[in-house]
Amino acid sequence: MNAPRAASKADPSDIRVINRLLMFDLLFPQNRMSRAELGRQTGLSRVAASEAASDMLDKAILRESGTDEREGRGKRGRLLTIDPDVWRIVSIDLSQPYVMRGALVNLQGHIVHRMELPLEAANTVSLDDVIDTIRELIDRASDHVLGIGISIPGVVTTEGRVMLSANLGWKNLELRDLIEGEFGVHTRVCNDANTALLAERFLGDGSPDSLFIQITSGIGAAVLVDDKIVYGIGHAAGEIGHVVVEPNGPECPCGKRGCLETLISAPVLHAKLINEPDQRQEILTHAGELLGTALSMPTSLLDLSDVAIYGPADIVGETFLSAAEQTVNRLTSSQFHTPTRVRRCEQGDDIVLLGQAVAVMQARVGRL
Ligand SMILES: [Zn+2]
Repeated sequence: MNAPRAASKADPSDIRVINRLLMFDLLFPQNRMSRAELGRQTGLSRVAASEAASDMLDKAILRESGTDEREGRGKRGRLLTIDPDVWRIVSIDLSQPYVMRGALVNLQGHIVHRMELPLEAANTVSLDDVIDTIRELIDRASDHVLGIGISIPGVVTTEGRVMLSANLGWKNLELRDLIEGEFGVHTRVCNDANTALLAERFLGDGSPDSLFIQITSGIGAAVLVDDKIVYGIGHAAGEIGHVVVEPNGPECPCGKRGCLETLISAPVLHAKLINEPDQRQEILTHAGELLGTALSMPTSLLDLSDVAIYGPADIVGETFLSAAEQTVNRLTSSQFHTPTRVRRCEQGDDIVLLGQAVAVMQARVGRL
Protein backbone atom coordinates (compact mmCIF):
# COMPACT_ATOMS: atom_id res chain seq x y z
CA MET A 1 0.00 0.00 0.00
CA ASN A 2 1.72 3.10 -1.23
CA ALA A 3 5.08 1.36 -0.94
CA PRO A 4 7.98 3.55 -2.02
CA ARG A 5 9.28 2.45 -5.41
CA ALA A 6 13.02 3.08 -5.03
CA ALA A 7 13.73 -0.21 -3.31
CA SER A 8 17.16 -0.59 -4.88
CA LYS A 9 18.46 2.55 -3.16
CA ALA A 10 17.02 1.79 0.25
CA ASP A 11 18.92 0.23 3.14
CA PRO A 12 18.09 -3.39 4.08
CA SER A 13 15.59 -2.48 6.80
CA ASP A 14 13.76 -0.17 4.39
CA ILE A 15 13.62 -2.97 1.84
CA ARG A 16 11.94 -5.23 4.38
CA VAL A 17 9.38 -2.52 5.09
CA ILE A 18 8.72 -2.03 1.38
CA ASN A 19 8.38 -5.77 0.75
CA ARG A 20 5.84 -6.16 3.53
CA LEU A 21 3.84 -3.20 2.26
CA LEU A 22 3.82 -4.56 -1.30
CA MET A 23 2.35 -7.82 -0.06
CA PHE A 24 -0.10 -6.17 2.34
CA ASP A 25 -1.28 -3.99 -0.53
CA LEU A 26 -2.09 -7.03 -2.67
CA LEU A 27 -4.03 -8.68 0.15
CA PHE A 28 -5.91 -5.56 1.29
CA PRO A 29 -8.67 -5.56 2.22
CA GLN A 30 -9.83 -9.18 1.89
CA ASN A 31 -7.88 -11.02 -0.80
CA ARG A 32 -6.35 -14.47 -0.34
CA MET A 33 -3.12 -15.53 -2.04
CA SER A 34 -0.42 -18.14 -1.68
CA ARG A 35 3.16 -17.12 -0.96
CA ALA A 36 4.09 -18.15 -4.50
CA GLU A 37 1.38 -15.93 -6.01
CA LEU A 38 2.40 -13.01 -3.80
CA GLY A 39 5.98 -13.51 -4.95
CA ARG A 40 4.92 -13.50 -8.61
CA GLN A 41 2.75 -10.41 -8.32
CA THR A 42 5.23 -8.37 -6.29
CA GLY A 43 8.23 -9.52 -8.30
CA LEU A 44 10.00 -10.50 -5.07
CA SER A 45 12.29 -13.50 -4.91
CA ARG A 46 10.97 -16.66 -3.27
CA VAL A 47 13.18 -16.00 -0.22
CA ALA A 48 12.17 -12.35 0.12
CA ALA A 49 8.46 -13.12 -0.27
CA SER A 50 8.66 -15.95 2.22
CA GLU A 51 10.56 -13.80 4.72
CA ALA A 52 8.05 -10.94 4.45
CA ALA A 53 5.15 -13.38 4.86
CA SER A 54 6.73 -14.98 7.93
CA ASP A 55 7.38 -11.59 9.51
CA MET A 56 3.76 -10.55 9.04
CA LEU A 57 2.40 -13.91 10.23
CA ASP A 58 4.55 -13.62 13.38
CA LYS A 59 3.18 -10.14 14.02
CA ALA A 60 -0.44 -11.26 13.45
CA ILE A 61 -0.84 -8.91 10.50
CA LEU A 62 -1.51 -11.89 8.24
CA ARG A 63 -2.95 -15.30 8.92
CA GLU A 64 -3.24 -18.53 6.98
CA SER A 65 -6.64 -19.17 5.48
CA GLY A 66 -7.14 -22.46 3.64
CA THR A 67 -5.17 -23.91 0.74
CA ASP A 68 -4.87 -23.08 -2.93
CA GLU A 69 -7.54 -25.30 -4.52
CA ARG A 70 -6.77 -24.64 -8.17
CA GLU A 71 -6.36 -27.76 -10.27
CA GLY A 72 -3.20 -28.89 -11.96
CA ARG A 73 -0.94 -27.95 -9.11
CA GLY A 74 1.44 -30.17 -7.24
CA LYS A 75 1.92 -29.28 -3.61
CA ARG A 76 -0.93 -27.05 -2.57
CA GLY A 77 0.16 -23.75 -1.06
CA ARG A 78 -1.41 -22.33 2.06
CA LEU A 79 -3.32 -19.13 1.35
CA LEU A 80 -2.57 -15.95 3.26
CA THR A 81 -5.00 -13.21 4.15
CA ILE A 82 -5.03 -10.14 6.38
CA ASP A 83 -5.84 -10.97 10.00
CA PRO A 84 -8.82 -8.84 11.11
CA ASP A 85 -8.92 -10.08 14.70
CA VAL A 86 -5.81 -8.81 16.44
CA TRP A 87 -4.77 -5.25 15.60
CA ARG A 88 -6.95 -2.17 15.94
CA ILE A 89 -6.49 1.36 14.69
CA VAL A 90 -7.94 4.26 16.65
CA SER A 91 -9.42 6.63 14.09
CA ILE A 92 -10.81 10.09 14.86
CA ASP A 93 -12.74 12.28 12.40
CA LEU A 94 -12.90 15.97 13.31
CA SER A 95 -14.11 17.06 9.89
CA GLN A 96 -17.84 17.01 10.53
CA PRO A 97 -19.82 19.83 12.08
CA TYR A 98 -21.67 19.19 15.36
CA VAL A 99 -20.14 15.78 15.97
CA MET A 100 -16.79 14.20 16.73
CA ARG A 101 -16.60 10.66 15.45
CA GLY A 102 -14.23 7.97 16.63
CA ALA A 103 -13.80 4.31 15.76
CA LEU A 104 -11.73 1.20 16.17
CA VAL A 105 -10.92 -0.16 12.73
CA ASN A 106 -9.47 -3.60 11.96
CA LEU A 107 -6.78 -4.32 9.36
CA GLN A 108 -9.38 -5.25 6.75
CA GLY A 109 -10.83 -1.74 6.95
CA HIS A 110 -13.93 -2.59 8.97
CA ILE A 111 -15.19 -0.57 11.89
CA VAL A 112 -15.51 -2.84 14.92
CA HIS A 113 -16.54 -0.19 17.44
CA ARG A 114 -17.63 3.41 17.08
CA MET A 115 -18.19 6.46 19.28
CA GLU A 116 -19.85 9.76 18.57
CA LEU A 117 -19.64 12.88 20.69
CA PRO A 118 -22.26 15.51 19.84
CA LEU A 119 -20.85 19.03 19.90
CA GLU A 120 -22.65 22.13 21.15
CA ALA A 121 -21.68 24.15 18.11
CA ALA A 122 -20.03 23.31 14.82
CA ASN A 123 -16.49 23.85 16.05
CA THR A 124 -16.43 23.46 19.82
CA VAL A 125 -14.35 20.31 19.96
CA SER A 126 -11.71 20.58 22.66
CA LEU A 127 -8.40 18.80 22.81
CA ASP A 128 -9.53 17.21 26.09
CA ASP A 129 -12.56 15.72 24.32
CA VAL A 130 -10.29 14.28 21.65
CA ILE A 131 -7.92 12.79 24.24
CA ASP A 132 -10.78 11.32 26.30
CA THR A 133 -12.29 9.69 23.20
CA ILE A 134 -8.94 8.21 22.19
CA ARG A 135 -8.41 6.89 25.72
CA GLU A 136 -11.78 5.17 25.72
CA LEU A 137 -11.12 3.57 22.34
CA ILE A 138 -7.65 2.40 23.39
CA ASP A 139 -9.13 0.82 26.53
CA ARG A 140 -11.59 -1.12 24.37
CA ALA A 141 -8.84 -2.33 22.05
CA SER A 142 -6.86 -3.90 24.93
CA ASP A 143 -3.16 -3.72 24.10
CA HIS A 144 -3.24 -4.24 20.34
CA VAL A 145 -3.38 -0.68 19.03
CA LEU A 146 -1.44 -0.37 15.78
CA GLY A 147 -1.66 3.40 15.82
CA ILE A 148 -3.84 6.45 16.23
CA GLY A 149 -5.07 8.55 13.32
CA ILE A 150 -6.76 11.94 13.44
CA SER A 151 -8.34 13.65 10.44
CA ILE A 152 -8.48 17.43 10.48
CA PRO A 153 -10.29 19.88 8.20
CA GLY A 154 -7.36 22.16 7.51
CA VAL A 155 -3.71 22.35 6.57
CA VAL A 156 -1.59 19.67 8.26
CA THR A 157 2.13 19.01 7.80
CA THR A 158 3.41 15.50 7.14
CA GLU A 159 4.90 15.69 10.66
CA GLY A 160 1.41 16.05 12.11
CA ARG A 161 1.39 19.74 12.97
CA VAL A 162 -1.94 21.46 12.37
CA MET A 163 -0.84 24.67 10.67
CA LEU A 164 -4.35 26.01 10.42
CA SER A 165 -7.84 24.68 10.85
CA ALA A 166 -10.31 27.54 10.59
CA ASN A 167 -13.20 25.19 11.41
CA LEU A 168 -11.63 23.98 14.65
CA GLY A 169 -9.96 27.27 15.52
CA TRP A 170 -6.56 25.54 15.78
CA LYS A 171 -3.32 27.10 14.61
CA ASN A 172 0.26 25.81 14.80
CA LEU A 173 -0.74 22.92 17.03
CA GLU A 174 1.78 20.07 17.37
CA LEU A 175 -1.05 17.57 17.54
CA ARG A 176 0.90 14.42 16.66
CA ASP A 177 3.58 15.05 19.29
CA LEU A 178 0.94 15.90 21.84
CA ILE A 179 -1.05 12.70 21.28
CA GLU A 180 2.06 10.51 21.09
CA GLY A 181 3.28 12.10 24.34
CA GLU A 182 -0.04 11.34 26.00
CA PHE A 183 -0.42 7.72 24.90
CA GLY A 184 2.99 6.54 23.69
CA VAL A 185 1.35 5.20 20.52
CA HIS A 186 2.36 6.01 16.94
CA THR A 187 0.05 8.76 15.67
CA ARG A 188 -0.73 10.22 12.26
CA VAL A 189 -2.57 13.48 11.76
CA CYS A 190 -3.87 14.07 8.23
CA ASN A 191 -6.02 16.42 6.21
CA ASP A 192 -9.56 15.08 5.86
CA ALA A 193 -9.71 15.29 2.05
CA ASN A 194 -6.48 13.30 1.80
CA THR A 195 -7.79 10.55 4.06
CA ALA A 196 -11.12 10.44 2.20
CA LEU A 197 -9.13 9.99 -1.01
CA LEU A 198 -7.28 7.03 0.54
CA ALA A 199 -10.60 5.38 1.43
CA GLU A 200 -11.87 5.85 -2.11
CA ARG A 201 -8.62 4.49 -3.55
CA PHE A 202 -8.17 1.44 -1.34
CA LEU A 203 -11.76 0.60 -0.32
CA GLY A 204 -13.71 2.05 -3.27
CA ASP A 205 -13.32 2.64 -7.00
CA GLY A 206 -10.41 5.09 -7.04
CA SER A 207 -7.46 4.74 -9.39
CA PRO A 208 -3.75 5.38 -8.65
CA ASP A 209 -3.98 8.70 -10.53
CA SER A 210 -7.06 10.53 -9.42
CA LEU A 211 -8.57 13.70 -8.11
CA PHE A 212 -10.95 13.76 -5.17
CA ILE A 213 -13.29 16.69 -4.52
CA GLN A 214 -15.41 17.07 -1.42
CA ILE A 215 -18.33 19.44 -1.37
CA THR A 216 -19.26 20.10 2.24
CA SER A 217 -19.35 23.34 4.22
CA GLY A 218 -16.35 24.24 2.07
CA ILE A 219 -14.66 22.76 -0.97
CA GLY A 220 -11.74 20.43 -0.40
CA ALA A 221 -9.67 18.46 -2.84
CA ALA A 222 -6.94 15.84 -2.80
CA VAL A 223 -4.64 14.60 -5.53
CA LEU A 224 -3.20 11.12 -5.97
CA VAL A 225 -0.41 10.67 -8.51
CA ASP A 226 1.14 7.23 -8.97
CA ASP A 227 -0.57 6.20 -5.73
CA LYS A 228 1.11 8.97 -3.77
CA ILE A 229 -0.73 11.88 -2.20
CA VAL A 230 0.52 15.24 -3.42
CA TYR A 231 1.10 17.54 -0.43
CA GLY A 232 2.73 20.59 -1.97
CA ILE A 233 5.49 22.74 -0.55
CA GLY A 234 3.22 24.35 2.05
CA HIS A 235 1.22 21.15 2.73
CA ALA A 236 -1.78 22.90 1.18
CA ALA A 237 -2.23 20.97 -2.07
CA GLY A 238 -5.95 20.60 -2.73
CA GLU A 239 -6.96 23.80 -0.95
CA ILE A 240 -8.98 24.98 -3.94
CA GLY A 241 -11.96 26.49 -2.10
CA HIS A 242 -10.61 30.01 -2.37
CA VAL A 243 -9.59 29.95 -6.01
CA VAL A 244 -11.52 32.67 -7.85
CA VAL A 245 -13.74 31.31 -10.62
CA GLU A 246 -16.06 34.32 -11.03
CA PRO A 247 -14.11 37.58 -10.60
CA ASN A 248 -17.33 39.55 -10.12
CA GLY A 249 -18.94 36.91 -7.94
CA PRO A 250 -20.04 37.19 -4.31
CA GLU A 251 -17.67 38.52 -1.67
CA CYS A 252 -15.83 35.86 0.31
CA PRO A 253 -14.71 36.11 3.97
CA CYS A 254 -11.15 35.65 2.65
CA GLY A 255 -11.30 39.10 1.03
CA LYS A 256 -11.61 38.02 -2.61
CA ARG A 257 -14.70 37.75 -4.79
CA GLY A 258 -16.17 34.72 -6.51
CA CYS A 259 -14.14 32.00 -4.75
CA LEU A 260 -15.28 28.47 -5.64
CA GLU A 261 -16.49 28.07 -2.06
CA THR A 262 -18.84 31.08 -2.28
CA LEU A 263 -20.49 29.53 -5.34
CA ILE A 264 -20.74 25.76 -4.95
CA SER A 265 -20.29 24.81 -1.27
CA ALA A 266 -23.15 22.71 0.12
CA PRO A 267 -24.70 25.50 2.27
CA VAL A 268 -24.61 27.96 -0.66
CA LEU A 269 -26.25 25.52 -3.07
CA HIS A 270 -28.80 24.34 -0.50
CA ALA A 271 -29.83 27.95 0.15
CA LYS A 272 -30.24 28.57 -3.59
CA LEU A 273 -32.27 25.39 -4.04
CA ILE A 274 -34.59 26.35 -1.18
CA ASN A 275 -35.05 29.91 -2.49
CA GLU A 276 -35.66 28.89 -6.10
CA PRO A 277 -36.97 25.32 -6.12
CA ASP A 278 -38.20 25.54 -9.72
CA GLN A 279 -34.69 26.51 -10.87
CA ARG A 280 -33.15 23.30 -9.56
CA GLN A 281 -31.89 22.09 -12.94
CA GLU A 282 -30.30 25.45 -13.83
CA ILE A 283 -28.69 25.92 -10.41
CA LEU A 284 -27.07 22.48 -10.41
CA THR A 285 -26.02 22.72 -14.07
CA HIS A 286 -24.32 26.07 -13.47
CA ALA A 287 -22.61 24.72 -10.33
CA GLY A 288 -21.36 21.70 -12.27
CA GLU A 289 -20.05 23.96 -15.04
CA LEU A 290 -18.13 26.07 -12.52
CA LEU A 291 -16.54 22.99 -11.01
CA GLY A 292 -15.76 21.58 -14.47
CA THR A 293 -14.00 24.84 -15.36
CA ALA A 294 -11.97 24.69 -12.16
CA LEU A 295 -11.05 21.05 -12.83
CA SER A 296 -9.82 21.65 -16.36
CA MET A 297 -6.35 22.84 -15.38
CA PRO A 298 -5.39 20.18 -12.80
CA THR A 299 -6.75 17.31 -14.92
CA SER A 300 -4.78 18.51 -17.96
CA LEU A 301 -1.67 19.43 -16.03
CA LEU A 302 -1.43 16.02 -14.36
CA ASP A 303 -3.16 14.02 -17.12
CA LEU A 304 -5.77 12.69 -14.70
CA SER A 305 -8.94 11.11 -16.01
CA ASP A 306 -10.63 9.98 -12.79
CA VAL A 307 -12.44 12.55 -10.66
CA ALA A 308 -14.51 11.39 -7.68
CA ILE A 309 -16.85 13.86 -6.02
CA TYR A 310 -18.10 13.43 -2.49
CA GLY A 311 -21.01 15.50 -1.26
CA PRO A 312 -24.72 15.58 -0.42
CA ALA A 313 -26.81 13.32 -2.67
CA ASP A 314 -29.23 16.15 -3.52
CA ILE A 315 -26.33 18.14 -5.01
CA VAL A 316 -23.88 15.57 -6.35
CA GLY A 317 -26.33 13.85 -8.68
CA GLU A 318 -26.69 13.26 -12.40
CA THR A 319 -27.33 16.92 -13.38
CA PHE A 320 -24.34 18.30 -11.49
CA LEU A 321 -21.98 15.47 -12.48
CA SER A 322 -22.77 15.51 -16.19
CA ALA A 323 -22.47 19.32 -16.34
CA ALA A 324 -19.06 19.09 -14.67
CA GLU A 325 -17.92 16.22 -16.89
CA GLN A 326 -19.07 17.85 -20.13
CA THR A 327 -17.43 21.14 -19.19
CA VAL A 328 -14.09 19.67 -18.21
CA ASN A 329 -13.96 17.56 -21.37
CA ARG A 330 -15.04 20.46 -23.60
CA LEU A 331 -12.25 22.62 -22.16
CA THR A 332 -9.51 19.99 -22.22
CA SER A 333 -10.20 17.80 -25.24
CA SER A 334 -7.08 16.96 -27.19
CA GLN A 335 -5.65 13.94 -28.93
CA PHE A 336 -3.32 13.37 -25.96
CA HIS A 337 -5.70 13.56 -23.02
CA THR A 338 -7.98 10.65 -22.11
CA PRO A 339 -11.50 12.02 -21.52
CA THR A 340 -12.10 12.70 -17.84
CA ARG A 341 -14.74 10.76 -15.98
CA VAL A 342 -16.45 12.76 -13.23
CA ARG A 343 -18.30 10.42 -10.90
CA ARG A 344 -19.92 10.34 -7.52
CA CYS A 345 -17.87 8.86 -4.68
CA GLU A 346 -20.03 6.11 -3.21
CA GLN A 347 -18.33 5.86 0.18
CA GLY A 348 -20.69 6.68 3.03
CA ASP A 349 -20.30 8.77 6.18
CA ASP A 350 -17.39 6.62 7.37
CA ILE A 351 -15.15 7.67 4.50
CA VAL A 352 -12.82 9.83 6.61
CA LEU A 353 -12.65 7.39 9.54
CA LEU A 354 -11.73 4.53 7.20
CA GLY A 355 -9.29 6.54 5.10
CA GLN A 356 -7.53 7.70 8.25
CA ALA A 357 -7.18 4.07 9.31
CA VAL A 358 -5.63 3.29 5.91
CA ALA A 359 -3.14 6.13 6.46
CA VAL A 360 -2.10 4.57 9.79
CA MET A 361 -1.76 1.13 8.18
CA GLN A 362 0.49 2.60 5.48
CA ALA A 363 2.76 4.00 8.15
CA ARG A 364 2.72 1.01 10.49
CA VAL A 365 2.22 -2.44 8.96
CA GLY A 366 5.70 -2.54 7.45
CA ARG A 367 7.39 -1.46 10.66
CA LEU A 368 5.96 -3.64 13.39
ZN1 LIG B 1 -12.32 33.06 -0.62
